[in-house]
Amino acid sequence: MAGNKTFTMLKPDAVENGHIGAILEQITASGFRIVAMKLTQMTQADAEKFYDIHKERPFFGELVEFMTRGPIVAAILEKENAVEDFRTLIGATNPEEAAEGTIRKKYAASIGENAVHGSDSDENAAIEGAFHFAGREMF
Ligand code: UDP
Repeated sequence: MAGNKTFTMLKPDAVENGHIGAILEQITASGFRIVAMKLTQMTQADAEKFYDIHKERPFFGELVEFMTRGPIVAAILEKENAVEDFRTLIGATNPEEAAEGTIRKKYAASIGENAVHGSDSDENAAIEGAFHFAGREMF
């Protein structure tokens, strides 16, 4: 059965470009409840660990550099079928391929700087949420 939580980051490009408010508005208007949230900045070690699954990919170095260059908004979101519904809301990894109206279509500039992260499974949602938040910060 699908779980009811997912984890997201508004990436450094979205924060730099002043899109925090608009993106959070679209997320909550789409039925997600924010159950944890903070502005934070990942260290190089944090980003390398978070994206460990991509460490052999050619874009890994650029990805780590991008994700550590400024603050992000990290959040845990709750909704029925959260992981799948949130991936639909953000759109394809490459904004050029993302559906009209999706967050990446509206706010992302490229496949690397693509505005927002969304967990790809219930298991990863739990791991990624726990990576960024202590139990007392989850509501
Ligand atoms: N990424 C990149 N180049 C690529 C593919 C991915 O820079 O060719 C970055 C991009 O920021 C993406 C992240 O690596 O969001 C993780 O990639 P994944 O394939 O897991 O995509 P996602 O699940 O974020 O859509």
